[in-house]
Amino acid sequence: MGQAIAGHELVELADGLYRLDTRYYRPGHTSAYILGSDGAHAVIDSGVGANVPALLTALSHLGATDDTVHWILPTHVHLDHAGGVGGLFASLPKARVGVHPSGVEHLVDPTRLEAGVRMLYGDAFFDQEYAPLTPVPADRVSGLDDEARVTLGTRALRVLHTPGHAWHHLSIYDEATDTLLAGDAFGAGYPGFGGPGAPFMVPVVPPPQFKPEAYRATLARILALSPAQVAPAHFPLITDVRGTAERLGQMLEAGLEQTAEAASVADLEARLLECWARWLPTDASVWAYRQAYGLDIWLTAEGMWLWRCKQEKKAAG
Ligand SMILES: [Zn+2]
Repeated sequence: MGQAIAGHELVELADGLYRLDTRYYRPGHTSAYILGSDGAHAVIDSGVGANVPALLTALSHLGATDDTVHWILPTHVHLDHAGGVGGLFASLPKARVGVHPSGVEHLVDPTRLEAGVRMLYGDAFFDQEYAPLTPVPADRVSGLDDEARVTLGTRALRVLHTPGHAWHHLSIYDEATDTLLAGDAFGAGYPGFGGPGAPFMVPVVPPPQFKPEAYRATLARILALSPAQVAPAHFPLITDVRGTAERLGQMLEAGLEQTAEAASVADLEARLLECWARWLPTDASVWAYRQAYGLDIWLTAEGMWLWRCKQEKKAAG
């Protein structure tokens, strides 16, 4: 089981693969992963800026130094995954930062990203949770193509582009442990809902980049890869990969039906909450479900609604 590192739970999930609970938003919500292999380390997703001290403590607990951390690999540039990348890099300046090619500019100059996040969440939330964003020098950031391979000690990591949650989303497949570090490409789920290896996951598709066909293709790709386990950024480990992919696919289609019928974005949010409760494990409390998943479902309602508005605009010519 896990151990507490500066108040953050650190768990070894498989040989050399560790999950740090960043405690962003609440405990059991957002993970950062650390991979270690023969004196080389990588961090996959950094959490927010405030998570950097805990990550550095966890890294040094695992024997990492600024010479051994070779890679910082955010799955995408949303700030619960990449908000801490600049601050982490400042302490680990020998590392390279690898991100989807479309994410590079946002790490080098976070101005537009910051403006977008302020618009969606409001200034008060941004200032409390995310500020300030630290840029990464352009010559330290690499755009990682689909099927790129990243060597880490004796380990080979495979980069898979997994759009759907965001257009610029990638996942990291660790061949040594047959684990896909999926970021947000395989839904979000929380402790206490569902059985071991089969947490209750919901699709999360925030604005502005949701495309149903990309989300479907990513689910199919993960199914075809068929890893022994998927480690999502939010949150428990998934070993029932097939069952989870099927449920996520069904929930996506049900969500799209609600999107077509909804009268407003607020109506869509209420519809998604109710509709997805059908997939809740029978022993889950609906009240607790709404508490745990409300933010994700609000974001998804916004993302699906914006997609519908774009479709309508396109149809109107
Ligand atoms: Zn996220």
